[in-house]
Amino acid sequence: MIRIAIAERDLRARIAAAEPTWESRAKERAANAVAKRRVDDGDGIWSDIKHVFMELQGWKCMYCEKPMPRPDPNGGASGKVEYDVEHFRPKNRVQPWPTERVAKSRSIDYASKLKHGAASGYVHLAFDPWNYGVSCKVCNSELKGDRFPILGKAAPRSKRRRELDAKERPCLVLPIGDEGHDPEGLLEWHGPTVRPRADLGDDDRVRAMALIDFFELDTRQDLLLGRCVAIVLLHDWLEDARLDSQLRVEAEACIEQLLADQATFAGCLRGYRDLYRRDREEALQWRQRARRYAASKEPELLAMMP
Ligand SMILES: [Zn+2]
Repeated sequence: MIRIAIAERDLRARIAAAEPTWESRAKERAANAVAKRRVDDGDGIWSDIKHVFMELQGWKCMYCEKPMPRPDPNGGASGKVEYDVEHFRPKNRVQPWPTERVAKSRSIDYASKLKHGAASGYVHLAFDPWNYGVSCKVCNSELKGDRFPILGKAAPRSKRRRELDAKERPCLVLPIGDEGHDPEGLLEWHGPTVRPRADLGDDDRVRAMALIDFFELDTRQDLLLGRCVAIVLLHDWLEDARLDSQLRVEAEACIEQLLADQATFAGCLRGYRDLYRRDREEALQWRQRARRYAASKEPELLAMMP
């Protein structure tokens, strides 16, 4: 997970440019929702601006950085069903996390430090795009749902994200925007796997562990496989970038692309780039392990990989 930095006014300007009537429709719907104190399924207009977020995010999930299908330029299938507009603070209710099953299966020992957000949800944020991002079905539907663990005190009446974050001290991180925690300050990469950074204070350590446990960032096989393939690619470009030839220019351009904010698995790859700079031998060992893992999961990849 990495931050996709954008100022609130710039995000709203992008939305207004792409969907000029959205803001006024959203205001109307928000007033209705607040009056009836809930959002019903038919009220949702957030999907109308899904494409704004997908472009901003480079067609990857904001939480797990998995790639998502881009629209077919020939007018074929859009792939939109594979991802959702995610409300960071849930609309209608908040359910506790971790469940007993999750706490047991992931050996979570910090559950007593967690509280949960406003029980009746954040209906006043249901139409606020500063509370949105786009995530994959696994992150959104299977894992997040209506859950919103916090370390502070629920503040259902606060309206602004900054004010809410200060009071509630959320465990999860909304990586879209320029407020709150930067996930790269919390997470540390070891090849394709992720851990809390070693130098964190108490709150941030719980936050980092919760982020990993909540989205199962360290155990989901599709994420590990994708990161392994990406590590092999990056490693080889990093090697080519050391050469004194035309290949170096191409390699530098490819490295820049692989590490960009909008790049798939950029968090992991930036961690790998740092390791490569620090200890090229250890990086090479991870590259070999990554290649073996990828080949064991997807044998046809072996034929394509150097
Ligand atoms: Zn995801």
